[in-house]
Amino acid sequence: MKSGILEEMTIEEVRELQPNTAVVPIGSTEPHGPHLPYGSDTFLTRTVPEEAVRRAVRRGAKVICLPTLPIGNNVNFRRFPFALRIGVRTLMRVVEDIVEQLAADGIEKVVVVNDHGGNTDALRAALREIAGRDGSPFVCMVCPCDFSGGIESKLIKHPSDHAGEWETSMNLAIRPDLVKTDRLADNPFGKLSLPSLRETFFVRPWHLYVPRSAGGESRTASAETGRAILGASIEGLARFLVELSAAPRTPSFPYIEDSGAGSS
Ligand SMILES: [Zn+2]
Repeated sequence: MKSGILEEMTIEEVRELQPNTAVVPIGSTEPHGPHLPYGSDTFLTRTVPEEAVRRAVRRGAKVICLPTLPIGNNVNFRRFPFALRIGVRTLMRVVEDIVEQLAADGIEKVVVVNDHGGNTDALRAALREIAGRDGSPFVCMVCPCDFSGGIESKLIKHPSDHAGEWETSMNLAIRPDLVKTDRLADNPFGKLSLPSLRETFFVRPWHLYVPRSAGGESRTASAETGRAILGASIEGLARFLVELSAAPRTPSFPYIEDSGAGSS
């Protein structure tokens, strides 16, 4: 039985699957406070797409999942030890090269999956570079939980962008063996000297933004919440992949051909 997970497949299974869609998970390795492991982002970014691809392939989708890249951009984390990082340009080139090869191997549509904020701008810039080249595959980007149907907004009482209730719940569902439950806490966020800066974009030095390398309340996290979000996210992404793989790659994709033409 073909899984759709490239690392697990033989060359014969890959040829038989004839994938037209590829999923490229981009992870990150950086500290997540005293209670969560460095691999938190990578574990989530691997688990959701892999399970979604398995389901999509069982439902007939021609989709393949690449291995998860465990190192991303963490320049803002550099005051913490071993926040692994490659530069913005390097990350862009890595993604551009991966997509170029996928096109050579017959892939028409690519889904980049990323959960790490430090990667987002580089990945978007890479998508723009790729879009500027004729003959490129269609490339879109999602967070692992974008297709959850918004279930987390009902379950999470204390939102945080790093190692809070949500991320702790996800870890309790994926790798409970690595969560230090005796270290859960309400971790402080740094305060801006100029509150109006909140309206601007700047790259936050995270040793000042989240001095403990985690921010917000994590004591309200639970494996049950994590499993509910995970389940909804996997099923939502699986459905999307089935649709995307089945959609004909017309010259006007992702738009309907001739929409509005001749209506002048
Ligand atoms: Zn994280």
